[in-house]
Amino acid sequence: MAANRLIVHGGAGDWDGFDEAEVLKGVRAAAEAGWSVLRAGGTALDAVEKATNVLEDDPLFDAGFGSFVNEVGEVEMDALMTDGATIKFGAVAAVRRVRYPISLARLVMTRTQNCFFVADGADQLAAELGMPLVANITMVTPKEIDQFRQRQALHATRNEKGTGTVGAVALDGSGNLASATSTGGIPDKRKGRVGDSPIFGAGGYADNQFGAASATGQGENIMRFFLCQRVVEAITAGVDATAAAKSGLDYLAARIPDPEAGIIVIGADGSIGAAHTTKAMPVAWVTADGDIQVAMRPAR
Ligand code: ASP
Repeated sequence: MAANRLIVHGGAGDWDGFDEAEVLKGVRAAAEAGWSVLRAGGTALDAVEKATNVLEDDPLFDAGFGSFVNEVGEVEMDALMTDGATIKFGAVAAVRRVRYPISLARLVMTRTQNCFFVADGADQLAAELGMPLVANITMVTPKEIDQFRQRQALHATRNEKGTGTVGAVALDGSGNLASATSTGGIPDKRKGRVGDSPIFGAGGYADNQFGAASATGQGENIMRFFLCQRVVEAITAGVDATAAAKSGLDYLAARIPDPEAGIIVIGADGSIGAAHTTKAMPVAWVTADGDIQVAMRPAR
């Protein structure tokens, strides 16, 4: 029987001006939720969904409620669920009316013959599959909408690096790996812009033979190099999850100046890794003896 493993992230970025204790509390709560699923004998898929739902609900993070608004003041969210047992995935992009995009991504994987739905069609699918639809404005925090209106009044642009995409990776007792990634995208993004997060192989990947991963950061950089697949398939005898995460980001940094990326990884061997090129990337993970650890800057 494989040992349960779990790691979550709250997004690679500057995290300047944030209360780090609050941010770490948020990722810890997500890890606790995912871990309680695994401890009760639940699957890696259930664990990553549960952990991600907690972060989608937390307005500190750029996913679900609390997502960044785009250039017209609306929320457009992307999510990806991957299953290492079947090498299947479900993805959604530019969804506007779903509170938990990662749960919709999972339904795409399990309840349709397809892999990827976007925009109105994805929202419509959510309703057909029994998910409640919400008004877009209810996904935006009052602070985010106030700041948007102020920028509009001043014709100002936002000067901030994207922070707060969320992700989770888990290995369950049956040796199955899964990853989940959910985001509101980058701040003030153009309407219709989609980053790496819902792209299989880029924003997330899982294959029971190797491992699973979830990425965060500047999507335009990450998706060009299929960061998650590259890192996961680098896990072999002698290269654990930490080494693979680091070498994946070193590779990216060698190809692109300042890639602004981060990744969390679990190997099929149970090894756990995290790395980022940004100033910070809050993570929480569970140690071999079941303790939850948190870090704002896990490795650089
Ligand atoms: N990767 C996300 C995107 O480009 C943003 C992030 O991770 O902060 O949409």
